Amino acid sequence: IDNSLCSSTVFCLQVAVKCRPLTGKERGRNIVRINDSKEVVVLDPDLSKDYLDRIQNRTKEKNYCFDHAFGPDCTNLDVYGKCISSVISGVVQGLNATVFAYGSTGSGKTYSMVGMKSDPGLMVLSLHTIFDLIKKDKSSDQFEVTCSYLEVYNEVIYDLLEKSSGHLELREDPENGMVVAGLRCIKVHSADKILELLNLGNSRRKTESTEVNATSSRSHAVLEITVKRKQKNKYRNQVMRGKLALVDLAGSERASETNSGGQKLRDGANINRSLLALANCINALGKQQKKGLAYVPYRNSKLTRILKDGLSGNSQTVMVATVSPVDSQYHHTVNTLKYADRAK
Ligand code: ADP
Ligand code: MG
Repeated sequence: IDNSLCSSTVFCLQVAVKCRPLTGKERGRNIVRINDSKEVVVLDPDLSKDYLDRIQNRTKEKNYCFDHAFGPDCTNLDVYGKCISSVISGVVQGLNATVFAYGSTGSGKTYSMVGMKSDPGLMVLSLHTIFDLIKKDKSSDQFEVTCSYLEVYNEVIYDLLEKSSGHLELREDPENGMVVAGLRCIKVHSADKILELLNLGNSRRKTESTEVNATSSRSHAVLEITVKRKQKNKYRNQVMRGKLALVDLAGSERASETNSGGQKLRDGANINRSLLALANCINALGKQQKKGLAYVPYRNSKLTRILKDGLSGNSQTVMVATVSPVDSQYHHTVNTLKYADRAK
C-alpha cells in the first residue's frame, strides 16, 4: 500500500500479517518428530498477487496477499516501522487512528501489542513516538497526553487501571465523542512506565481456561491514548484532539470449538459478536470509501461503539493479523487469514 494515499479524508485500512516463531515448547516437540515439519506458514515477499491468483486452484496450498507480511524473525519494531509509525504523526496532528491485533489464542496478539522489555510492543512504541514528536515540535502549542486502558468482557466494560473495577457504561458526549463514564484516564509525561502499567492492567484481565488453551484470553483490551494539542495564535485558541486506540482482541477461535457449556459458551458467543461486528464495520467503511455513503453498524457491539471515533471516515486503521506457524493451529491460521483477507 502506498501510505501517501492515506489522506485525512478517507478511511484507510492497512492489513498486516505477523507469523510468530515457534516457542521453546513447540521446538521441543519438533525434536521428537524429526521427519515432520511443524511449520506450515511460509512468507514469500517475491510472489506477486497476479501469480498467486493464477496458481490458486492448482496447488493444495492456500495463498493470501496482504499489505505487509512479517515472518518469525521480525521484531515488533519492524512491524511498527513499516505500518504504524506513519499513523502516529497524524494522531499528534489531531487525527484518530485504530490499531488492532486479531488472531487465535497463542498466536502472538499480546506479544505484538504489549511485548517485552527486549522487544517492546506496538502500544509502547507508539507512546514513545508520540513523546518524541512532541519534543521535536517547533510550535508553541501545548500538549497533553492521557491514557486509559479498559477491557470488554462478555459485552461488559471494565477499567484495567483500577484494582477492582465495576461495570462501566458508554455515553455519547457531544464534545468528546464516545466516552466510557467513570473510566480512569491518567496523564502521562513519558513512555517510561507504560510497559509496567500495561502488564499490571493485563494481570487484571479476565482469563478463562477452556479446553482449547489453558490461558485463553476471552476479553478485548483497549488502550486509548489521547493527544490534546492547544494551539495559540493571534486570533484564537484552538484545541485539537487525536485519539489512538490500540486493541488486543480476544482470541478469535470459535465458541463451538471450545467444548464447554454454560458461562464460557456465552462468553464465546459474545466475543464472536464483537469480532463479527468489527468485521461488518470495516467492510461498511470500505464500501463507503468506494461507493459513497453506507451505513456503518457501530451499535451492534460494545467494542465497535468504543472504537467508533477511531474507525470512521477520517481515521487510519491498521489490522495486525497474528498467526502461529504450527501445524496444529492450521485451521485457526486459515480462519485468521480469511478474516484479514475479507477486511481488505
Ligand atoms: P495471544 O495474546 O495471541 O494469546 P501471546 O502474545 O501470549 O498470544 O503469545 C503466545 C506465546 O508465543 C507466548 O509465549 C509469547 O511469548 C510467544 N510469542 C508470540 N510472539 C512472539 C514473537 N514474535 N517472538 C517470540 N515469542 C513470541
Ligand atoms: Mg493475549
